Amino acid sequence: MEQFGREELGLLERLARATERNADASENLIKLAEEERNVQIEAPPPFCPSCSRIDPVINMEQSGEGTLSDFVMRVLCKACNTEFFAIPENWVCVMSPVDVRTVLSEKGGENGSVNIS
Ligand SMILES: [Zn+2]
Repeated sequence: MEQFGREELGLLERLARATERNADASENLIKLAEEERNVQIEAPPPFCPSCSRIDPVINMEQSGEGTLSDFVMRVLCKACNTEFFAIPENWVCVMSPVDVRTVLSEKGGENGSVNIS
């Protein structure tokens, strides 16, 4: 069996240490990736772009046709009486008013302004 020289042993030791550091770094990266995946980014509440009122009462007198994903609402902010456009994101589509109330209550909404039957 061939014997390693001093230089070769030193090289092997450095390689072993580098491999260990690499393994530690990989473990840390995996941990960070898992933590990032667990962080749920909540969307900020909607607000009026004119008066900055958060989740203002609005009025909408509009109907139209188009794809759901391109749906834009022209609304009137009842706080500042200014018209603005609302672009819904992350639609939740359900089949019944009961389901609507369930979804709204789960996200802390349904403050009485919802008018569905
Ligand atoms: Zn407003």
